[in-house]
Amino acid sequence: MSAAAPAAPAPARPVILSGRPASPGFAAGPLVVQAERTGGRRRAGTPAEERAALQAALATAAADLATLAAEASGDAADILEFQIALIEDDALSGPALDAIAGGTPAERAWTDAIGVLIADYEATEDDYFRARAADLRDLAERVATALSGEAQAGLTLPEGAVLFAADLAPSRFLSADWSGRGIALSAGSATSHVAMLARARGVPMVTGLGSLGAAAALAGAPALLDGEAGTLVLSPDAAATAAFAARRRASEAAAAHAAAAATGAAVSADGVAIAVHINVADPAELDRLDPAICDGIGLVRTELLFHARDGLPDEAEQTAVYRRILAWADGRPVTIRTLDAGGDKPIPGYTLDGEMNPFLGLRGVRLSLARPEVFAVQLRALLAAATDGDLKVMIPMVSVPAEMVRVRAAVAEAAQALSARGAPFRVPPIGMMVEVPAAALALDAFDTDFVSIGSNDLTQYTLAAGRDEPSVAELADTAEPAVLRLIAMTVAAADARGVPVSLCGDAGGDPRLVPLLLSAGLRSLSMAPSAVGRVKQTIAGLSVAAAARG
Ligand code: PEP
Ligand code: MG
Repeated sequence: MSAAAPAAPAPARPVILSGRPASPGFAAGPLVVQAERTGGRRRAGTPAEERAALQAALATAAADLATLAAEASGDAADILEFQIALIEDDALSGPALDAIAGGTPAERAWTDAIGVLIADYEATEDDYFRARAADLRDLAERVATALSGEAQAGLTLPEGAVLFAADLAPSRFLSADWSGRGIALSAGSATSHVAMLARARGVPMVTGLGSLGAAAALAGAPALLDGEAGTLVLSPDAAATAAFAARRRASEAAAAHAAAAATGAAVSADGVAIAVHINVADPAELDRLDPAICDGIGLVRTELLFHARDGLPDEAEQTAVYRRILAWADGRPVTIRTLDAGGDKPIPGYTLDGEMNPFLGLRGVRLSLARPEVFAVQLRALLAAATDGDLKVMIPMVSVPAEMVRVRAAVAEAAQALSARGAPFRVPPIGMMVEVPAAALALDAFDTDFVSIGSNDLTQYTLAAGRDEPSVAELADTAEPAVLRLIAMTVAAADARGVPVSLCGDAGGDPRLVPLLLSAGLRSLSMAPSAVGRVKQTIAGLSVAAAARG
């Protein structure tokens, strides 16, 4: 990423930008500006500019690979050498540069050219070449990242810094230390995965601030980020600084009050108990949390385990992580979701590159079923860990009943493989997420042991408003009647079958939406740990019978 420019002279007045709050909290420190991109992508230039951009990206990728190769040995060094040789081979760059000369933007030209090669490698009979297709996908991603202007290396930010960027990939977020720092996005959305990660880690974030324009010259200037009001103030004067400090103090006092409520039970004013579970993005978070704040873990997003490392974790590594989570829960129920990669959570070498619309593409269970060898490893790890506690396994992005039939068959195969090895295991309950309207509309047709509503995706798919699309952020609201009706239908259909139902989307942690979710019939919610105190306070102030009347 681009480093902060030297401090500009303070202007006479502060510059105030307003966006949408995405993660509460405050940060005060120097503004760090990351190169602007549009909607998460570069804006295409003339063919000459696109040619230069691709050549620069190839050179950057080759230099990064050479640095990595110098420190690597064995197989890792072979893979890196293979990737460097490919970058230097005109047979790969030639077709991409020809396409650019014909008017194709650099990203598309690169993705198409390497896509042809990946397909060739995948189609060969030779196991060696088929295995190398994964190295090609990794290379495709590396060059695409370099083209987008983002460096592959981890982010390093000064103390208190406020990072200003168009958008931020979850893997980039995971590469940085955010303590005391904050994120200001010109685009982005409060329901994106990076916003969810920011809330999970207590990192203040504001989205939809719009372009910095002339204020870009203020890189390095003092910045005040207010994740509750959704504002970014650059070069603040004394009055703006004092107002910020007062809001920060008031908010911290309210947060301390909410934290005190976090370990109590969630009971409404009219005595209805609500189960409160937590969502876990990264098992390292658990070390800082007291299990007494929750009735269990309602969602572990395992794709994020796959993000923070090179390559996919093997069976032993996954089993160890799942066991660690169960140990933390100390007998409480734990719902671990199988890999939900794709959409805005790409995993290099696993998800497809260049899909026209990744949110409507090969993601979640679709990808697990398309890559049975990866799915089998995860299922075996889950079945082995299930002997340690009250584990449930949850399947993301289920759209049609046949997917659950295929999942059950894969689980049976995993059980058979463990039993053939003589390894101890248990087949846990297998449930599905309801995050596609098709699943909500026909829930009775699915073979599921439990249901958890993914309100983030259910909202985006019901309203046809992308969760990472700031221009339609107002539309993507779980409070819309169509979404609430699908939630109520899901609860009623699950109740009718005697199948437990919960909700694990971000709506469950939003005090504005909690009364609506309880009215829709939900009595179990899962949320970011940082939301538990506030939600319990909200529940305590509600009469659920009154909420049920709407
Ligand atoms: C959801 O869609 O609401 C959900 C919980 O899944 P994710 O946010 O990880 O897509
Ligand atoms: Mg989802």
